[in-house]
Parts: sequence; structure tokens; C-alpha cells
Amino acid sequence: MSAVLFRNGLVLTMDDTHTVLPGHDVLIVEDRIAEIGAGLTPPPGAQEIDATGGILMPGMIDTHRHMWQTAMRGYGADWTLTQYFVWYYLESGKHFRPEDIHAGNVLAAWEALDAGVTTTVDWSHGLQSTEHADAAADALESVPGRFVLAYGNIQQGPWQWSAAPEFRDFVERRIKGSDMLGFQMAFDVTGDPAFPEKAAFEVARDLGVSVTTHAGVWGATNDDGIRLMHEHGFMTPQTVYVHAATLTHDSYHRIAATGGSVSVSTESEQSAGQGYPPTWTLRDHDIPVSLSMDTSVWWSGDLFSAMRTTLGADRSREHLRAHERAETVTHVHLRAEQVVDWATRGGSRALGLDSLVGSLQKGKKADVVLLKNDASPVMFPILNPYGHVAFQAQRGDVHTVVVNGRVVKHEHRLVGADLARARADVERTVEHLVATMGRDAWEKGMNPEIPETRVMDNPYTYTEWDAGSAQWKHGPAD
Ligand SMILES: [Zn+2]
Repeated sequence: MSAVLFRNGLVLTMDDTHTVLPGHDVLIVEDRIAEIGAGLTPPPGAQEIDATGGILMPGMIDTHRHMWQTAMRGYGADWTLTQYFVWYYLESGKHFRPEDIHAGNVLAAWEALDAGVTTTVDWSHGLQSTEHADAAADALESVPGRFVLAYGNIQQGPWQWSAAPEFRDFVERRIKGSDMLGFQMAFDVTGDPAFPEKAAFEVARDLGVSVTTHAGVWGATNDDGIRLMHEHGFMTPQTVYVHAATLTHDSYHRIAATGGSVSVSTESEQSAGQGYPPTWTLRDHDIPVSLSMDTSVWWSGDLFSAMRTTLGADRSREHLRAHERAETVTHVHLRAEQVVDWATRGGSRALGLDSLVGSLQKGKKADVVLLKNDASPVMFPILNPYGHVAFQAQRGDVHTVVVNGRVVKHEHRLVGADLARARADVERTVEHLVATMGRDAWEKGMNPEIPETRVMDNPYTYTEWDAGSAQWKHGPAD
């Protein structure tokens, strides 16, 4: 019997009433949370971890991440969505071989665990063949995290790849209904009145799996897609709408009425241009929210960033709108406690895993994160624990991570990760891409042109000192 006892932490249970328990222990036996209490007696042989001065919280859940793109970490830092589409969808995405998908996924999976993200949806839309899909699944199964493989293929219409017998065969071979490797279908609805995606929704219904879809993405998907899904009965409580940033009230009403949820990727929406991060309007429609990081080609796999940017974007908009009316916001709507809930329960609810994970409660699966860093001046005082998680803590403060009862990170170091191999694999992928694209195209892809900035004329620009009058002469410098 394996057991882990976290001793004397500040426990954010994230249960329905958000119970906070200072100075409590969390006992894990096998894959479950066996007890939460003070001064617990561990079973013989239990691994004891001192959580004094730290915060114990549920493992975080990212509901939308293109893990295969982690092989290109940081490459698209200065991209817009248009440049992303050109690079992955039109030009270079097709160069990814199964081993490249594998390399990106392994790296992304460890990156998630390192940051305390214990469940990640791999929005895997680079699966050009089932060999690619096998590589994606192999990678996820080789890392001790919880994953949901969201199967997609941007090189074909979803009505094409989902109809292929080898797709069905893959699902039968690889997806066993395990809570360590879940399954979704991942595709977008363009709004074409002929609704060709209907066939793919029928396959999903037939397989009994949920669909995740990029919805309300400026210039790509819009209200027409939502309306078509609704009119054909394909909007369900299990459907996850990613971004949902540029939709009308009518579409939000349809999402709310059918019980679906939105995966908000604030860092992505702010930078890529899908639309303004929509939490401010989802609140008005009472639509459930989960958080996601989207892709490491721009950003990290780190939900601390998601919580922080989501608070910032929501509050920023609220202030800006008030200022336009010459008003002042004295109380903000979005609270730190809420984004911690979205990073944990929001994800477990969206993925239908809420009876298993998302909170620290007796009987639930043991996905536990300890935030503690005795060497950091940022880890005390902990006065407002939710504020501390959202605005103070970061990846380096993730001391210990447990997934399904197994310690996968301890004392700030991953356990059992072969990072040397992960690095070598990713380096081979990068070499392959550079060789296939050519060095010039590689460099050009990473460095998009910068639009010209015209500096305004400034009446306060002093250009010349006049000694006679002992004054600056000024005027538009030309
Ligand atoms: Zn995405």
C-alpha cells in the first residue's frame, strides 16, 4: 500500500463551499484522498511531506492545449492569429511527422506537471494519420499525468477524417475509458450553410464522446457555426467552446441554454486576436468557465499565467468601459477566488471529471499540488490564499505534485522525467523542420514584419535653446 501524508498545510479544498483549512494534513492512500484533518496518524511507511508555510490545492486543469506545438516553444512569440494559421494550417503544419508529435507532447506533458497542471486536454489537431495519433497517445501515456486526447486534424475536414475506418479503429484500440487518458473530438465549425461538420458530430454522438470546438474566433468561426450546431441538436452540456470571444448574445444564450462551457485562453485571446477574453460577458449569461493556455508556440503551459491574465483582462475592461462613461469602478466583479475555482473545478466540470478530481475531498482521486518555497520572499505572509495563488505564486513555487496518488514532482524537481531524452527528441524535430522549410523560411516565420509606427507630433517637444531669451524654442520638430 502506498501512502503520502502532507503535513500542516493551508488547504484550499475547492469543495462546493470553498472550505479553507489552515494547519491541516492531507492523507493519500493509493490513488485516493483518504483523509483531511489535523494531526493525522500516517499508516506505516507513508511518505511524509512537510507542508508548513505552504498552500495545498487541487491539481489544476487546462482544458485546451495544442501540446504537439510545444516542439516549437516560443517560436511564434510575435505572431498574430493570421500568421499562426498560415504557418500551421497552410504551410508547415503538414511537415510534422509522428515522432514530432510525440516529442512535442512529451515535453508539454512534463511542462504541465511541473507547473501543477495535473489534467491537460491535448487539443491535438496535427493528427494527419493514425500513426500521428498513436504517437500522441504513446507520449501522453509515457508521462504520469492525467490527459484527455482531443483528436483533430487540420489537414482534412472533420467529416473526412472522422469517417475513416482507421479513426474508428484507433478509438477502439487506444481509448479504454480510463480516467488517465480521456477522449474528445476536436474540430471547428466554419458556418458553411451546408454544415459539412454534421457528419463528424454524428460520429461523436455515435461514439459517445464530447466535442471541443474553437468558437467565436474573429475571422474564423462565428454565430453561424453556433446556430448550425444548435439547430441540428449538437450542443450538449459536454461541449467545450474554446475562446467564444466574438459571439452575439444569441449565441451565448444558446450555449447557456444547452449547458455547455467555455474554455477561456486569456493570454491567447489578448495577443492573437480571437476577440476580447469573454469572462465579462460569460458572467452575464451564467456560462461556466474553465481556463486554458492554448499553445506554447506563443505562451507557457502554466495556469498561474491564465489566472493572472484573466483577472487583469476582466478588470481592465471593466475600468475602461466605466471611464468611457466618466465613471469609476469602486468594486470589481471578478475575484481571485473565482479564477482559482476556474483553474480547478471549472476544468473538472467541463470535462465531466468532477466526481473524480478538481477538489481536495475525501474519496476523490489524489491530484494534489503543494505550493511552498522556503527560499522565496514571495511565499510569506500568506494573508489572502486565493490572491496568493493567483497573483503571487508561480511555477517555481510548485514544490510537490501528486497525480492519481503518485508523486511526480517533489522538492521542486520532476520525478522520473527523462528531460535529456525529451530535449534530444525536440532538437531532432527542430532540425527536421529547419531542413524541410529552409533556413530563410524558418527565420522569416519567426520574425514577422513590424507595421510602421508613426510617432505623433508633440507640441511639447523642445528643440532649441535660445540663449538671448533664455528659453526653449518649441514647436513640431521637422
Ligand atoms: Zn486553440
